[in-house]
Amino acid sequence: MQQPSNAAQMECDVLVIGGGPSGCTVGPLLAEKGHKVVILEKAHHPRFHIGESLLPANLPLFERLGVAEEIKAIGMVKRAAEFVSFADGRKQEYQFAEAWDKTMPYAYQVLRSKFDEVLIRNAEKKGVEVHEGCRARAVDFLPDDSGAIVEAENDDGSTLRWRARFVVDASGRDTFLANRFQIKHRNPKHNSSSVYGHFAGARRHPGQAEGNITIYWFEHGWFWFIPMQDDQTSIGMVTWPYFMKTRDKRSLTEFLMDGIAMCPPLKERLMDAKLINEVEATGNFSYVSERNHGPNYVLLGDAYAFIDPVFSSGVLLAMNSGFLAADAIDTCLKQPEQAPVAMREFDRLMKHGPKEFSWFIYRITNPNMRDLFMHPRNTFRVKEALLSLLAGDVFGKTPIWRSIRILKSIYYLTSLSRPMRSWMAWKKRKFNIRPVEDAEMGHA
Ligand SMILES: Cc1cc2nc3c(=O)[nH]c(=O)nc-3n(C[C@H](O)[C@H](O)[C@H](O)COP(=O)(O)OP(=O)(O)OC[C@H]3O[C@@H](n4cnc5c(N)ncnc54)[C@H](O)[C@@H]3O)c2cc1C
Repeated sequence: MQQPSNAAQMECDVLVIGGGPSGCTVGPLLAEKGHKVVILEKAHHPRFHIGESLLPANLPLFERLGVAEEIKAIGMVKRAAEFVSFADGRKQEYQFAEAWDKTMPYAYQVLRSKFDEVLIRNAEKKGVEVHEGCRARAVDFLPDDSGAIVEAENDDGSTLRWRARFVVDASGRDTFLANRFQIKHRNPKHNSSSVYGHFAGARRHPGQAEGNITIYWFEHGWFWFIPMQDDQTSIGMVTWPYFMKTRDKRSLTEFLMDGIAMCPPLKERLMDAKLINEVEATGNFSYVSERNHGPNYVLLGDAYAFIDPVFSSGVLLAMNSGFLAADAIDTCLKQPEQAPVAMREFDRLMKHGPKEFSWFIYRITNPNMRDLFMHPRNTFRVKEALLSLLAGDVFGKTPIWRSIRILKSIYYLTSLSRPMRSWMAWKKRKFNIRPVEDAEMGHA
């Protein structure tokens, strides 16, 4: 849909910037509640995106969006997450069927180009006006709190303009609004980057374990091994700034392959495999914005915060933020007097997921935590609770929190009982996460 640059101003209730999982969740939900919704997506689906391993807690969200069958058709069933620490010869498999809530025994691994296309076509089917190849360029919030003017540019250079009562930033790591408000901050407690590519011919586990994700720890971080349909396997190396700096003049492909060579069990699974796409990198992962909402706007998914993907939580957090926002925005538009209460609840839940995952992310390389992770016992149901967290079951009614608190206490007590080991681990982590000039690798 193209218009001349002097196109008349159009009107909508909600304008969503970004047609990824968060934007394509909030959009159709609001359309179903009777709002006129527009989604702007700068790319054209299907388009490449990283983030292919989903969690069991995604499945009820697919049901509620009405896309469960379509996702099933493109998904590789993932029943477990396997963690391998080859340096000390340990491995542990977490079967989702053993989580506290036994009704969510699996998730899917998906090619994101297909997954995101299902979501955006569903948004269209539900009555959302979708503009692909259309990049939001500017937003002006109106002084009387009555909404905003959003300007966007089509691929052909023509301009479109909307007056919207509410703006949703679902622009992912582009962080459209957070950049404009200058409220985005890198996470001082974490700092890692990633290099990744797709392979054909990687060795899969036999039988029902074929679709399981494997996380391989190595000296400088960790790798993901994500088996998808059609013999495609996503391999990614997540590592610290100092190690990124050692890339020097090597291409990203050489750097990734050299890294894989440092992880023998992964190297073995890729023995007969062939790289089938261009290796890419994402630098300086983790950030958070000072706020996730304000008058007539919200920030969803990665547009608000990004945490390390070791627990495959990104798509779940993005889609869940879409559900939370749909309720909050509906309240703001239909019952403005209830808006402050609705937005407080939105804020609380938006912070809840990243906070709970982050506690484990910050400690996952600590040897005391690694011991707990590699030899989980189910005393006070702590293993079931941990599994539920790994399944993404953190927003529902499953009563895992007492057991999670016990698990954290066990970790603190173990750390106190081994002060030297804990101190060394703390020092190593401090070294790992320190920023190194030019260590970020957003370039090929
Ligand atoms: C290396 C890496 C590995 C990951 N692994 C996993 C994983 O295994 N599992 C998992 O669940 N998550 C993973 N993630 C996280 C996951 O990719 C994201 O959390 C998820 O895609 C966020 O969804 P979103 O809708 O917020 O943003 P996105 O999926 O990024 O969608 C944002 C959309 O907005 C569009 N856009 C941006 N700016 C504009 C603009 N100005 N105008 C119009 N459109 C715009 C973009 O083109 C994009 O389509 C990983 C992330 C990284 C970096």
